[in-house]
Amino acid sequence: MRSGLFIDGTFDDGGARRLEVIDPATGDAIAEVIDGTPADGVRAVAAASAAQRSWAARGPRERSEVLRACWSTLLAHTDELAALITAENGKPLADARGEVAYAAEFFRWNAEEAVRIRGEMATAPSGANRIIVRHPPVGVVAMITPWNFPAAMITRKIAPALGAGNAVVVKPAPETPLTALRVAELCTEAGVPPGVINVTPTTDAAGWFDAVVDERATRMVSFTGSTATGRHLLRRAADRVLKVAMELGGNAPFVVFGDADLDAAVEGAMVAKMRHSAETCTAANRFFVESSVADDFAERLSVAMGSLVVGPGAEPSTTCGPMIHDPAVERIDALVRGAVDAGARPALAGGTVEGPGSFYAPTVLADVSPDAGIADEEIFGPVAPIIAFDDTERMVEWANGTEMGLAAYVYSGDLGRAMSVGERLEFGMVGINRGAMSDPAAPFGGMKQSGLGREGASEGIYEFCETQYLAVDW
Ligand code: ADP
Repeated sequence: MRSGLFIDGTFDDGGARRLEVIDPATGDAIAEVIDGTPADGVRAVAAASAAQRSWAARGPRERSEVLRACWSTLLAHTDELAALITAENGKPLADARGEVAYAAEFFRWNAEEAVRIRGEMATAPSGANRIIVRHPPVGVVAMITPWNFPAAMITRKIAPALGAGNAVVVKPAPETPLTALRVAELCTEAGVPPGVINVTPTTDAAGWFDAVVDERATRMVSFTGSTATGRHLLRRAADRVLKVAMELGGNAPFVVFGDADLDAAVEGAMVAKMRHSAETCTAANRFFVESSVADDFAERLSVAMGSLVVGPGAEPSTTCGPMIHDPAVERIDALVRGAVDAGARPALAGGTVEGPGSFYAPTVLADVSPDAGIADEEIFGPVAPIIAFDDTERMVEWANGTEMGLAAYVYSGDLGRAMSVGERLEFGMVGINRGAMSDPAAPFGGMKQSGLGREGASEGIYEFCETQYLAVDW
C-alpha cells in the first residue's frame, strides 16, 4: 500500500503530517498516508506544468496507446484495486470490481477519442481569408474528487484530460486516498510520463485549493462532489477566470406508471437505488409511483430491499456495505425519522445497525408526501421514499421541483408515454425502462445546480480543450 504523495512520478514520504484511512466496516484505521499541505499542491502543479508541454507534443496516437495501456493495466489489477476500494470505501467487492471495469473503460474510450479531436476550416464570409479552428489542451488541470467512486471519479477526469494533452493534479477525497495513489502508480507503469499525473491527498482541502488556484500554471478546475462545495469552488475559480467542469449533487426521481412491468421496475429500482450501497449521485432519491400500483410496488421493493445482505463489503455474501462514516448514518437516520414524523409509513423498517462499523439497513417509506423534507434532500443511503401520484402533470411538476437535475428514471409499458415524460424531465440523464445508465460512451452530467459540462462521450474530451482560431491568408 502506498502512503506518500505522488508527485513527478515518485512517491514522496517526507511530509510531517499523516492522515488515517478508516475501514468503514469496522471503524478501524487501516493505513496512514501523508497529509499533503498547500505547498505540496503547489509542487504538484509545478511538476505538472513542467511535464505538460512534452506530453502535449506527442502525437495523438502515441498518447492514445498510453491510455490504452492504462486500460489494460488497471484491468489486470482488478482484484487488487477492488480490494483497496472496498477497504477504504466499504462497498461490496462485486460493486468494487464493477467500478474497476468502469474506471478502466474511460481509458479505452478516451484512447479512441484522443485520435479524433476535430477542428474546422471555413472560408470567411468576406472571402478574404480562411478560418481555422483547433482544440489545444487547456494545460494543467486541478481535479477534486469524492469518496464514493475512489477509482472511477478520478479516471473519468484523467483519461480525457490526458487524451487531450493536459497534465493533472488530483486531490482525492481524504477518506479514499489509497485507490487514487495506486491508480496513478499503475498509469505510470503503463507509460504515463512522470509529472503528467500527480496525486496529493490532504485533509486541508480549502488550503490546498486556495494555493493551487493561485498558481499561474493552473488553468482549469474539474470537480465532482456536493453542490455546496462546487458553488464555493466556482466562486474561488472565478478569481482567476479558470475553466470549470462541475459534477454536483442529484435528487433523482424514479417514475413508475401503472402500466409498467413491475418486476422490471423493481429490478431497475434496485440498480438505480442500491448499487454501490446507495452512495451514488445518480441514485433514485424519490419514487413517484402511480396510485394504482403504489402499494404493490412498495411491497415488492420492500421484499427486494429486505433481502439484501448488510455487512462488510469484503464478505462475499454482502450486497449492501457500510456507509462511509458515522455522520453519514446519522444524517440518513435523521431524514428517515423526519419523514416518519411527517406521516410516512415504513414499509420496510431498516434503520441504524449496532456497530462496529457505519451501517444502515435498507428502508422503504410508503405514503411519503411530495413536499416532505426527505424528497428535497440527497439521501445518499439505502432509503427509498415512495410518493403516490394520480395526475401525470402534477407528478412532472413535483419531479422537476428541485434545484437538482442530474438523473431521472421512467418506467412504463407505453414507450411513447415514457419518452414524452422523459423529455419533460429537467435532468441531464434519463433512464427509460432502465436503472443503469453510467457509460463512458454517453455524456454524464447534470442540468440546473447538478453541474456544468459533461464527462464521457465525445464531448468529454473537449471539456479539457481550448478553442483556438487562426485567421489565415494564403
Ligand atoms: P462530501 O460531503 O461527500 O465529502 P464534498 O463536496 O464536501 O462532499 O467533497 C468532495 C470533494 O471536495 C472531497 O475531495 C473534499 O475533500 C473536497 N472539498 C471539500 N471542501 C473543499 C474546499 N473548500 N476546497 C476544495 N475541496 C474541497
